[in-house]
Amino acid sequence: MRTLVVDHPLVTHKLTALRDETSDTATFRSLTAELVTLLAYEATREMRVQPVSVTTPVGTAAGVKLARPLPLVVPVLRAGIGMLDGMIRLLPMAHVGFVGLVRDEESLVASTYANRLPADLTGREAFVLDPMLATGGTLATVIAMLAERGATAVTAICLLAAPEGIRHVEETFADDGPCTVRVVTASVDERLNDKGYIVPGLGDAGDRLFGSI
Ligand code: URA
Repeated sequence: MRTLVVDHPLVTHKLTALRDETSDTATFRSLTAELVTLLAYEATREMRVQPVSVTTPVGTAAGVKLARPLPLVVPVLRAGIGMLDGMIRLLPMAHVGFVGLVRDEESLVASTYANRLPADLTGREAFVLDPMLATGGTLATVIAMLAERGATAVTAICLLAAPEGIRHVEETFADDGPCTVRVVTASVDERLNDKGYIVPGLGDAGDRLFGSI
């Protein structure tokens, strides 16, 4: 498992505004979309392509197109939905699957309540969208679901990560096997607090995107 912390002034600038407790919902949503597009640019760097040639008005140029099967984007409900627009902007041709997990606020253990994933992902690359890599339980579950279905590569795009979550995913997928695993994030923060929130983090990403429930 590899982790990439995207070190770019625009990413840090947008992340700083996103963390700010005074950013309202509209600002938070648009910053999330912009940040995801920037992270997705790095997250898609190793995507499989196939060579093609294209006829220009003055000749023929060698180029590439995305290899088939097309990649699958998987936002993790609920907060991951807030990242979908920013991802689809870069990969409008991608297919989209959905997984819903909820974590018990006492035990912090995540359980699955929704699954709309293709049964067969043989040979496919998948991009998981989950804003906060906290304990890592949710992400490890989703990656395992994708790997079991035959995905060859899973890249998780997380706005923020905690060292504890990175460690959990690293330990779970220490040996990549047939599916390579990567995490792309804007920052690895200090730690988790006793409620499982990332410190300093940005609070509850789902609440800040969609309001509290
Ligand atoms: N989920 C969130 O929304 N925020 C955190 O800090 C951790 C998990």
